[in-house]
Amino acid sequence: MSETSASATTPKVKTRLPFQRSCNEKNEKGKLCAGHLKRWYGYGEEIKRLHGENAEVYRCEHCHTIYLPAPGFNSRTGTLQF
Ligand SMILES: [Zn+2]
Repeated sequence: MSETSASATTPKVKTRLPFQRSCNEKNEKGKLCAGHLKRWYGYGEEIKRLHGENAEVYRCEHCHTIYLPAPGFNSRTGTLQF
């Protein structure tokens, strides 16, 4: 019935594609989220350990899905910002 589980507090984590700027998550209706990915600094120790202290982590401002840097992709070329 009213299954308000704690899963809402655990954001989904995806790998960000190079040059990806908008969220490609789909909601339960199959509609693309298309939220803006914003640089996010609130990540924890685990992400720092895996991706470095200055990991380029983004988060969708709409659905709060977290986007980690693509493995092997040099984020220096992705600093183009609007
Ligand atoms: Zn989203």
